[in-house]
Amino acid sequence: QEKINHLRNVNRISVTGSHVPKLILEFSELKTEYQVSEKLLNNMTSSGYKYPTPIQMQAIPIMLEGRQVLACAPTGSGKTAAFLLPIIHSLQGPQKKGFRAVILSPTRELAKQTYRECLRLSDGCDFRIHIINKANQALTKYGPSSSQKFDILITTPKRLVFLLNQDPPAISLNNVEWLIVDEADKLFEEGIRGFKQQLDEITRSCTNTNLRRGMFSATNTPAVSKWCRRNMKGLVTVTVGQRNA
Ligand code: ADP
Ligand code: MG
Repeated sequence: QEKINHLRNVNRISVTGSHVPKLILEFSELKTEYQVSEKLLNNMTSSGYKYPTPIQMQAIPIMLEGRQVLACAPTGSGKTAAFLLPIIHSLQGPQKKGFRAVILSPTRELAKQTYRECLRLSDGCDFRIHIINKANQALTKYGPSSSQKFDILITTPKRLVFLLNQDPPAISLNNVEWLIVDEADKLFEEGIRGFKQQLDEITRSCTNTNLRRGMFSATNTPAVSKWCRRNMKGLVTVTVGQRNA
């Protein structure tokens, strides 16, 4: 335990929560500790990811253990792969149960970037990864009469809420296991009115009792951490860039 604390300190990682999983220093540890596939690890290497960044060291094991997380680390520190790797691992392979992971991005531009990284990291896994481009097209695409051949959805909250608000809803989130809020601090900013309501609405539609959430943010803002402490059971928080007390 002392050694783990030391490793967190030198990497400027601080954590809160009970029974926080230990950090990894190399991606290869994921194979022995969590049975992450060689293929997924190779996709990380092919992306040029040789060593985990500090947020990846700690957030990846937390999510692989199925814990809900608030992860804060500066822009450019590799948060995208920190949530994509555990999602790709935990979904195992494609299914016909509809979307099992949903990633909310504040802008369409960011959604596209995340989509591209998701394609890269899941290369060879055969997942059906979707991004809502035109909400109108999506109305028929994801409806009840569709084949349900979807695995991962990357979207802005607004477009998703639009689909949920159709009568009957134009998309089902009944089988969602992971709901990720990327750039949570941006979405919680006052300028973006009603995000909390949108998030409540989206969460209500995720009826799977096994739903887990991950919030990723550049800064640990009081608004975000307060919301997480209130709404996320068994929460673990990881903050990179400040020393452990
Ligand atoms: P953030 O979301 O924290 O702002 P990104 O996920 O966009 O950061 O990553 C920033 C850059 O770092 C991207 O170009 C990404 O490909 C790269 N990157 C991510 N993880 C690693 C890693 N382990 N090693 C090297 N580069 C990485
Ligand atoms: Mg990011």
